[in-house]
Amino acid sequence: MTLDVIVVGSCMTDLVSQAPRLPKAGETIHGHKFFIGFGGKGANQCVQAARLGAESAMVCKVGKDFFGDNYIQNFKDSGVHTDFVQQTSDAATGAASIIVNDAGENAIVIVAGANMLLNTEDLKHMQPSLICAKVLVCQLEISAQTSLKALCMARESGVKTIFNPAPAIPFLDAEFYKVSDVFCCNESEAELLTGCPVSSVDEAQRAGQNLLARGCGAVILTLGPQGCLVLQAEGSKHIPTEAVTAVDTTGAGDSFIGALAFYMAYFPKMPLEEMARRANQVAAVSVQTMGTQTSFPFKKDLPAALF
Ligand code: AMP
Repeated sequence: MTLDVIVVGSCMTDLVSQAPRLPKAGETIHGHKFFIGFGGKGANQCVQAARLGAESAMVCKVGKDFFGDNYIQNFKDSGVHTDFVQQTSDAATGAASIIVNDAGENAIVIVAGANMLLNTEDLKHMQPSLICAKVLVCQLEISAQTSLKALCMARESGVKTIFNPAPAIPFLDAEFYKVSDVFCCNESEAELLTGCPVSSVDEAQRAGQNLLARGCGAVILTLGPQGCLVLQAEGSKHIPTEAVTAVDTTGAGDSFIGALAFYMAYFPKMPLEEMARRANQVAAVSVQTMGTQTSFPFKKDLPAALF
């Protein structure tokens, strides 16, 4: 079987405690709710692509521990192929300890753990599948060197690439732009990378042009409730999205990118603006329910016109 979408990236277990307020140093307080969620930008994007019907595989490293086993089961439940998910005894599965207070503010500690041990050698396992794949997706929650190598391998195999420079770093290796067919980021990432403010569609236009000039095939700048901006050599277009009541926008960008990967793999002739319009619609569904992966829609929940 061919794997059409390959995501090389991170897995994180979110340990979320809700409490009336954030504790002070040395203090113990009672919270009123606890839950475990599946996150990590790479895993989120892969799960969304799979839920739309893409044959998707995740290339990542988790710990040889309870959270690692649990994450692999979560991938299987979402239809993600796990042949390239490795388990290591040298670090714990990536985890984010999150405390949310009643005002919705949070304090978060992220321990990337096993994610940072995914190295360029590990990528060799995916090579036989890569040559038949359609799209490879990378972010920056694993070592930047591993992400760049994965993008270069995809390019060499004639596979389309989506690069999501998140979380953003101010000095990104210039090669990342050259190996990205689609360079997709949000407003704050675009600000950090370009040094230009991005608080309006016009400003996003300028930052997007700046990124495009660095050598990527296309740039998509996501703009939250304002949809996104698609920039290509032949011109740029703002793609607005429908107004919805957002209850939790966590992971909206990942839902958008997972959907984009799906459209690039299965509708390769579709104009990028149309893919972005449809990805807006998928991500708009994700913001209307609480949670990250729990809010990502399945094909069966979406209008047939999207497929
Ligand atoms: P962001 O990372 O906030 O730019 O969001 C990524 C994508 O999710 C956007 O391009 C939109 O398609 C969608 N999105 C985010 N927030 C909202 C919202 N409040 N209403 C509708 N769509 C949203």
